[in-house]
Amino acid sequence: MNYIDYSDHFGVDGFNAFISYRDQDYANLTNRKVFTTNLGFDVNELVIPNQVHSKRVKMVDSACLLKETDGVISNVKNVVLSIQVADCIPLFLFNPISHQFGMIHSGWRGTAQCIGPNAIHIMETYGDNAKDVMAIIGPSIGQCCFEVGPEVTAQFDRTYSIKGKNDRMMLDLKNIVKDQMLANGLLGKNILVDNQCTCCEKEYFFSYRRDGQETGRMVAISGWRQSSF
Ligand SMILES: [Zn+2]
Repeated sequence: MNYIDYSDHFGVDGFNAFISYRDQDYANLTNRKVFTTNLGFDVNELVIPNQVHSKRVKMVDSACLLKETDGVISNVKNVVLSIQVADCIPLFLFNPISHQFGMIHSGWRGTAQCIGPNAIHIMETYGDNAKDVMAIIGPSIGQCCFEVGPEVTAQFDRTYSIKGKNDRMMLDLKNIVKDQMLANGLLGKNILVDNQCTCCEKEYFFSYRRDGQETGRMVAISGWRQSSF
C-alpha cells in the first residue's frame, strides 16, 4: 500500500482521509490525479491549492486550482480536497454531524499565523460547533528533528521548545497545533496525532529538512468516495 488510511478515526461510512507515502512526487499533478483516482475519488472534483505558507483558508464548492492558499474547506459531497507536504503538518478536519470538512497545510509559518484556528472559525461561520469537529495531525517533522533558531521559537510559547546545539532549539510543532485545536473548542478525544516523524522515517516520507529543496511531496486527500454518493 502506498498510503495511510485515517478514515476510521472519522467513523462515517463513505468519508475518507488519506496521506500518500513517498513512492512518487505528488507535487506532480499527474501523479496526484492518478493517486486520487486509484483511491476511488472523482478526479474531476479535485481541489488543488498553490501553497505559500500563509494563513489563507478558502471555502470551496467545486474543483479548482487556488492561488496562494494553504487551507481549503468544503461542505459539498462531491468535492475532493488535497494539500501537499514534506515535514509541514497536514491537518485533516471533519465534522461528522454537518459533514463539513477541511485540509490544512500547517508548517511553522502557517501555525504561527494560526491557520488551523482560522479554519475552525470559518467552519463555525458556516454553522459548525467546534466541539463536534474532529482533527488528525498527520505525519510531519517531530521535535526530534525540527531544529530551529530563536527567530522561530520566539513565535511560540517557550514550553514548546527544548535546547538543541549552540543557540538552536528543537520545536514541537505537533503539540502547538494540537493545543491550538484544544484552545479553539475541539475536544481532546476528537484529535488524533500521528507521531511518525517525516525526517526520521526516511523509508516512508519525503522530508524537506532531511533532503533539501529537491525533495518530493506527499499528498493528503479527504472527501467522499464516488461509491458513497
Ligand atoms: Zn525525527
